[in-house]
Amino acid sequence: MSDAETLFERIIAGEIPADVVYSDDTTFAFRDIRPQARVHVLVVPRKRYRNVAELAAADPQLLADVVKTAEKVAELEGIKDTGYRVVFNTDSDAGQTVFHVHAHVLGGEQLGLFGR
Ligand code: 5GP
Repeated sequence: MSDAETLFERIIAGEIPADVVYSDDTTFAFRDIRPQARVHVLVVPRKRYRNVAELAAADPQLLADVVKTAEKVAELEGIKDTGYRVVFNTDSDAGQTVFHVHAHVLGGEQLGLFGR
């Protein structure tokens, strides 16, 4: 992977403003700028991997941290009991636009079905 900073590294560094929901030593969570549900928060590991498969292969504990932070976000947003969706887009057909792995945490309303 190139060393060029991604948008999310700039957000983590505070160079680009974001509505931060939660952060800890290994993960960072902030609201998506174009929410697709009432609650739409992105959870990223501070360390960059291109996608969830690369993260899982290189650092399974860090993937577990991302999933735990997704649950923490659901708790903070008051949607843990009503349910929520965690999505990792991978590459172009899935619409991945930022190549720093991130979990979309979606909820706060009845979500539609998957697909097109
Ligand atoms: P992807 O399509 O790669 O799975 O998700 C990237 C997400 O980042 C999109 O949902 C998009 O709305 C969000 N996004 C893009 N630019 C910004 C930004 O500058 N700030 C925030 N908070 N979210 C962004």
